[in-house]
Amino acid sequence: MITKFIKRILRRDPMVKHTQANNTGAPKRIPKKAHRIDPHLLSKNAVKVTHTLQQAGYEAFIVGGAVRDLALGISPKDFDVATNATPDQVQRLFRKARLIGRRFQIVHVTFFGKGHPEIIEVSTFRALLDNAGDHVAESGRILRDNVWGSQGEDAARRDFTINAMYYDPSSETVLDYHGGMADMQKKTLRMIGDPAKRYREDPVRMLRAVRFAAKTGFELDGATRAPIAKLGKLLNDVPSARLFDEILKLLMSGYSWAAIQGLKDAGLHHGLLPLLDHILDTGADSKGANDFVKLALANTDERIQSGKSVSAGFLFATLLWPDLLKNWKANSAKGMANIPALHDAMDDTIATQSSGMTIQRRFESDMREIWSMQPRFERRVGRYPYRLIESPRFRAGYDFMLLRCATGELNPAIGQWWTDFIATDVTGQDELMASVKNESGNSPSPAKRRRRRKPKAAVPPESAAS
Ligand code: ATP
Ligand code: MG
Repeated sequence: MITKFIKRILRRDPMVKHTQANNTGAPKRIPKKAHRIDPHLLSKNAVKVTHTLQQAGYEAFIVGGAVRDLALGISPKDFDVATNATPDQVQRLFRKARLIGRRFQIVHVTFFGKGHPEIIEVSTFRALLDNAGDHVAESGRILRDNVWGSQGEDAARRDFTINAMYYDPSSETVLDYHGGMADMQKKTLRMIGDPAKRYREDPVRMLRAVRFAAKTGFELDGATRAPIAKLGKLLNDVPSARLFDEILKLLMSGYSWAAIQGLKDAGLHHGLLPLLDHILDTGADSKGANDFVKLALANTDERIQSGKSVSAGFLFATLLWPDLLKNWKANSAKGMANIPALHDAMDDTIATQSSGMTIQRRFESDMREIWSMQPRFERRVGRYPYRLIESPRFRAGYDFMLLRCATGELNPAIGQWWTDFIATDVTGQDELMASVKNESGNSPSPAKRRRRRKPKAAVPPESAAS
């Protein structure tokens, strides 16, 4: 009893070395010539953080996904640092440092440079929670996670071997506790420890397995894959907001189509997004819907891989479009007027989605805006087109409309007309308006023509969907 108590107290002190309290063993030290990490791919700010901590007498490393990406020769999208300094000790060393989180306390150190500010996430080495009863729910799910530990323990509680390597920019050495580098060479994604137990602790790890496999192109190790079929249902217990974040990461990974196929192969898509059930379960009869979603995802992947931005609202608007279209058509068939039929269908589509993972409100309004713009692209008379290009979300609505053209749902000539319309000057726009008049016999009323405002300059075609 007393020894247990003392152990627990010791764990709270990060500067205490835990040599036998854990079975994590010594790490493999991998020198530069073996890991070949290119220092040019490092964030200067992340290096600054590790140096500052080291100069203050602490241990500090770049860790996690950043080391995995560096070893793959990819430029990491963000950098995490792990240290034996406590969050308070970290905070005292940096001017712009904020303590974040309760369940998992970390420090955000912010740097303001020329572009966007960069946030380096600094976390203190965590202890393994095997015997820390009050931190673990009956199901095995970890509830609170602020017990400090050694670096070895910190490594053991990470998810995959390739995510558990520590890189010291000063010595250019990688510390590898779980054979991550060997797994990188074997192109294997392997869970640290007993996979079933690790999934029970945190079912989101199953989604992460699928996401990383899609991103790296690695195979899931057999033992890592096996328990997923049985344990997938544990995802039902995960709070909706966390599930949403993880699905968003998956969709925004730049490998969304591969990841969605991975979800299907692992049997994990059920109940996450009703739309995914629909798209992945139905066969030839939903071919049109499949085409649209596939194209939208391929388009998103391509944008992300080439460093362009994608808005989540746009992405969800595309994923739910086939459902919306079906509801819209059904409403029209019931005799509803076009626009009310669309708005009613939007409510229905969004309400149905809430049965699985809830799409957050902030994205919902973007989705509604993009959707409600769609019929307006077909009204190429009078002031309508001039008004439409002035809508704040025009660019997203336009990109969305182009996707509809690409699958043939909308006449591609309309897409081309709009592409020409936004690229030309006032005279060109008037000519285009006249061409529609000739094409459809639609003549704008003279009163409306007179009231139209001077159109804005051409919109550059690249800043789409952001
Ligand atoms: P990405 O490139 O998507 O950011 P990442 O590996 O950096 O991938 P993060 O979610 O940023 O993923 O997490 C950083 C690190 O924290 C991971 O590499 C892993 O070591 C650890 N980690 C994150 N989530 C978990 C989890 N659910 N279980 C165990 N370890 C985790
Ligand atoms: Mg990361």
